[in-house]
Amino acid sequence: MKINSNFNNVETSYLFSTIAKKIDAFLQENPDKKVIRLGIGDVTRPLCPAVISALHSAVDDMSTKNGFHGYGPEQGYPFIKNEVQKYYQNRNVDLEIDEIFISDGAKSDAGNILDLFDKDNVVLIPDPVYPVYRDTNIMDGRKIVYMNANESNSFLPMPDSNIKADLIYLCSPNNPTGATYNKEQLKAWVDYALANDALILFDAAYEAFIVDDCPHSIYEIENAKKCAVEICSLSKTAGFTGTRCGYTIVPFDIQFDGHSLNKMWLRRQTTKFNGVSYVVQKGAAAVFSPEGQKQIKENLDYYKQNAKIISDAMDQMNIWYTGGKNSPYIWFKCPKNMYSWDFFDLLLTKACVVGTPGAGFGKNGDNFFRLTAFGNKEDTIEAVNRIKALISSL
Ligand code: PLP
Repeated sequence: MKINSNFNNVETSYLFSTIAKKIDAFLQENPDKKVIRLGIGDVTRPLCPAVISALHSAVDDMSTKNGFHGYGPEQGYPFIKNEVQKYYQNRNVDLEIDEIFISDGAKSDAGNILDLFDKDNVVLIPDPVYPVYRDTNIMDGRKIVYMNANESNSFLPMPDSNIKADLIYLCSPNNPTGATYNKEQLKAWVDYALANDALILFDAAYEAFIVDDCPHSIYEIENAKKCAVEICSLSKTAGFTGTRCGYTIVPFDIQFDGHSLNKMWLRRQTTKFNGVSYVVQKGAAAVFSPEGQKQIKENLDYYKQNAKIISDAMDQMNIWYTGGKNSPYIWFKCPKNMYSWDFFDLLLTKACVVGTPGAGFGKNGDNFFRLTAFGNKEDTIEAVNRIKALISSL
């Protein structure tokens, strides 16, 4: 019996376990200290009332003979696909109902979509990166070419005509950097993909945080429906990290080797996935209702306010950073160009604040640090005051 030996090439992820161990060790020695965690990538605010009431009523449906739902369509119920279609229509993006696939979240689909592609394809991935793009391709044994995201391109790498890639990962607004592509920049990527017969996998998990005039969807760019799959999630938009629901758009126009990617994805999903539960899809559909939209905006505004508290502090300290505006993440340069794990230790031991060292997301993150806006407001203000005091003392 042979195992998939590509797993030998996936590095054990030490990032969050190392952080947890360091916090534990610190608290054992300093049990009275109040540690503020601005490292988490998970949301903290509860589901909004419109979602809760839809979930309750869907549970009640399941208790009646007429309302009971067994196996559903693997690609999602029409009632939620219609809502997603309208959501895109509001941004002048026309989607066919069967281009929309309801999923249990962006992480699974980002990995599962790779079933459709040959292992010989070359994959273009930014560094630093959301590790799922990298690790899922290493598990398949694909060749990865990294594109440099750094201070000189404001962590928004652009296409290089000397590189020939088949699959391109773009995440905007980005995790971990919060950097967000504008329309011209995304158009350059679409042009590159079309010229190279490549496919863009566009991760829009943070689109709901956009306030500037940047595209929320890659399909706001002309011809993107010929070369891009979009993966999105209600995790950060509506607090669904534990409830699990997202959607992936696979346009009819994408053809490779005479094969429709949409048909292949439908075949894949109906074979390997049983769909999201009826109850969760009902809750998720309520996110798109007028009251749901109003209520999730209140939560998003709360996080955005935290992001502003952090980014205002960076401005006051004259620290170089990306994100904070169209994103819950603030990605800043470590003071005195410190290595990010050294800054992590300093911040924990001297200010009792936890963030995420950029080194955990790739080589280009070595001297950068990520803070998140998902905490509560009072803690965020307190953490920022502590960070300011620490940095001014260096
Ligand atoms: N994509 C990005 C860029 C993320 O940062 C995350 C979660 O942190 C996800 C996808 C995962 O989303 P989901 O909870 O829908 O799997």
